[in-house]
Amino acid sequence: MNLIILGGGESGVGAAILGKHKGWNVFVSDYGQIQTAFKAELDQFDIEYEEEKHTFERIEKADLVIKSPGIPDKVPVIKRLKSLGKEIIDEIEFGFRYCENAKIIAITGSNGKTTVTGLTHYLLEKAGLKAGIAGNIGFSFAKKVALEQNDFYVLEVSSFQLDYCTTFRPDIAILINITPDHLDRYDYKMENYIASKFRITQNQTTEDLFIFNKKDQNTQQFLIETQQQEFLNATKIPVEVIYNQKNIQIGESQFDTNQISMKGPHNHFNATCAVRVAQELGIRDEVIEEGLATFVNAPHRLEWIMNIHGIDFINDSKATNIDSTFQALKAMDQPIIWIAGGQDKGNDYNILASLVKEKVKALICLCEDNTKLIAAFKDIIPIIQSTKDVNEAVAMSQKLAQKGEVILLSPACASFDLFKNYIARGDQFRQAVLNINN
Ligand code: ADP
Repeated sequence: MNLIILGGGESGVGAAILGKHKGWNVFVSDYGQIQTAFKAELDQFDIEYEEEKHTFERIEKADLVIKSPGIPDKVPVIKRLKSLGKEIIDEIEFGFRYCENAKIIAITGSNGKTTVTGLTHYLLEKAGLKAGIAGNIGFSFAKKVALEQNDFYVLEVSSFQLDYCTTFRPDIAILINITPDHLDRYDYKMENYIASKFRITQNQTTEDLFIFNKKDQNTQQFLIETQQQEFLNATKIPVEVIYNQKNIQIGESQFDTNQISMKGPHNHFNATCAVRVAQELGIRDEVIEEGLATFVNAPHRLEWIMNIHGIDFINDSKATNIDSTFQALKAMDQPIIWIAGGQDKGNDYNILASLVKEKVKALICLCEDNTKLIAAFKDIIPIIQSTKDVNEAVAMSQKLAQKGEVILLSPACASFDLFKNYIARGDQFRQAVLNINN
């Protein structure tokens, strides 16, 4: 049986290894270059591949196709395979088909996926459970299924991955929130993006748990419009998560938010989701409490770098859309020197206006094109400066900041205008800050 894998990145290579293990005749095809490390892995497992082209004659012989989530539907190879009626799935779906005897916890949402996935996995490990972490977070699920034995998998799942899941059924699904993002891949229709996120529940039954955000408008609206109340009543959900500034309260248990390592109400909501999973799995409150206090989040997410002469420097480079920056501004207690901008995704900056008015003292635009930012904020922020250089952005902000204030990089935009990705942007920002003291 021929398994064709489109895309030779982390997910494609993982799927290839699993396919090979399960006796498929595997061929990986990538229209771009395949990284050297991935090529070495494919060679190691004796898997055939091609790069910088798609050989249609070979691809069309597929019995099953696995598509990298990065490949949009509109590219010719996908259109052609669809017109031939070929089954196309995601690597998560493929991993699921071969994942036996393990419980799956799948996490999606517009923002917070990596944070909730990391924290949930951390709590499970603290409790001594054998849990793997995989998905959009950097390690492919399929490879873990091929090479490891785990009792639990905590999976970060993007909407692009869900679009090509058909039988995937998590024992526990978390939908953190739905706010506008990636609309270019959804015909600029929010309803398409919302429906995609809800695919995480599509195969769930009364045996399963669905954790969602009761305060998220798009989630609520979808549930009402599609009359899913019945489904919700049928699944083991009623996750009446009570949450306020001081405590996370679930059932009888209370957790003091001051004792949580991550700051900001959004992170306390993220923590609530992870705690709900931990409780479902019978993890003791003392273990959860310690886990919440000691968890270190991945970098570039409200990452505190250092305090220089009473000024905090925070790297939130992963804030690539409006809602994540909204949460970052909300989480700050001090006046903010805000470094923002990048590649605009059709942002509506009005959403930030009142928070900006209340908290932002100066804006440094760090981007190729600052016109939209200036138009949106020229009447509400007293000082606006612009640069295309991250070192200069740090120097400018440092000149403006006073003791007790915070310099926050939270761009609300993608990074691709000036940087390779959000990681490069955050790393360069961190380095520029560390250089101040040298
Ligand atoms: P994702 O994996 O969904 O991109 P991350 O955990 O990497 O989410 O966080 C991305 C950005 O969103 C960061 O700037 C982070 O501070 C912010 N963020 C995290 N959790 C939430 C949330 N629940 N709501 C809004 N923004 C969030």
